[in-house]
Amino acid sequence: MTDPEAPNITPLAQIRARIAQAASIARRPASEITLVAVSKTRPAEAILPLIAGGQRVFGENRVQEADAKWPPLQDAHPDLQLHLVGQLQSNKAEEAVRRFDCIHSLDRPSLLGALARAMDKVGRQVPLFVQVNIGAEDQKGGCAIADLPALLTEARAAALPVIGLMCVPPAGIEPAPFFALLGKLAADQGLADLSMGMSEDFETAIMLGATHVRVGSALFGART
Ligand SMILES: *Cc1c(COP(=O)(O)O)cnc(C)c1O
Repeated sequence: MTDPEAPNITPLAQIRARIAQAASIARRPASEITLVAVSKTRPAEAILPLIAGGQRVFGENRVQEADAKWPPLQDAHPDLQLHLVGQLQSNKAEEAVRRFDCIHSLDRPSLLGALARAMDKVGRQVPLFVQVNIGAEDQKGGCAIADLPALLTEARAAALPVIGLMCVPPAGIEPAPFFALLGKLAADQGLADLSMGMSEDFETAIMLGATHVRVGSALFGART
């Protein structure tokens, strides 16, 4: 097996090796785990080497930034997938449905109608994650745990394609209990996908069932 700390391999190869290792420890096929390379704030020149390395799934947190940056990259590589990992405003729902292949940030009832109308109009079903405010933090986005069942019921009534749950656990404390809780909430709701784990904690997230890990700085370097 490749030594994940080997200095002469690229960050992308290192992250792939670490994902494979975590999956193997968890006795899960690595193919179950999608690496979302979070490229927010990064220019195209920083993204191209990852595309050349075979990475196909990227994450952005702002619709406007994605609209400005991605059309030429998507034209050159029609198999790229773009995921929205940041908060969505209702008035950007249509742009988001046109630009993104997956949205990780459905977090409130007022977005349901906007997304349903946008998907109808654009003629495209975009898979959705419901973002959960897993640490009940005042300043954090995401649906409160208590509001999750009602939000999912409404999303199903609107025929929206919700595939799983997403979270960003509180900073500075052990994330494992929050990942485990998100997994339990998803299982209770019969949802198969879990978007959890970032640069600092994606291996822990994989042990606890993550299907999508969102990795930025470990691939691109620290954000300034
Ligand atoms: C920026 C961001 C990430 C990536 O964070 P890193 O710590 O750089 O890996 C993941 N998820 C969301 C929602 C983000 O905003």
